[in-house]
Amino acid sequence: MGRQPLWRRVGFIPQVTYFKPAGVRLDKSEEICLVIEEAETIRLKDFEGLEHEECAQKMNISRTTFARVLNSARRKIADALLHGKAIRIEGGNFEMAARRFMCVNGHEWDVPFEVMINTSTQSCPTCNTPTVMPIWPWHPGWGTGSSGRRRREGRNW
Ligand SMILES: [Zn+2]
Repeated sequence: MGRQPLWRRVGFIPQVTYFKPAGVRLDKSEEICLVIEEAETIRLKDFEGLEHEECAQKMNISRTTFARVLNSARRKIADALLHGKAIRIEGGNFEMAARRFMCVNGHEWDVPFEVMINTSTQSCPTCNTPTVMPIWPWHPGWGTGSSGRRRREGRNW
C-alpha cells in the first residue's frame, strides 16, 4: 500500500468540463487544468457564498487546506481569463458526497455519503437484492477489475 490519498468530499461535478476563448487558436500549453475539488471550492465559496469554516466541513478538510485549494483554483481561473487560456475541469483526489447505485434488476437510487460510511453493505431499497454497484458519477479507478455492466450515458470520461 502506498501513501493514503487525501480525499476531498465534493457535492457536484460540472457537466461542462471544457472552456475555450472564442476565435483563438490555442495549443496544449495554453490550457489550464482545474481539478474537481478546486471547482468545488469555487462553487461553495464564490457561488454559494458560504463561510470558509462551512466549506471546509462540507469537503471534510481543514480550513487551511480549503484556503489553499481555493487560492489555487482562483489563480488558475484568473490566469485563464486574463491570458486567454482554455480551462479543462478534470481529475483530482475527491470522493462524492452522494453516490448513485444500481441493482441487478435495474433499480437506481442515491446514497448520501453520511449513510455510506455508516452502512457497510448496501441493498436495493426497491427489491432488497444485495447485488448492487455504484454507477454514478464515473471516476477514474472506479469499477476497476469488475466486469459489471457499465453505463456511460453518452459521455466520454
Ligand atoms: Zn432492485
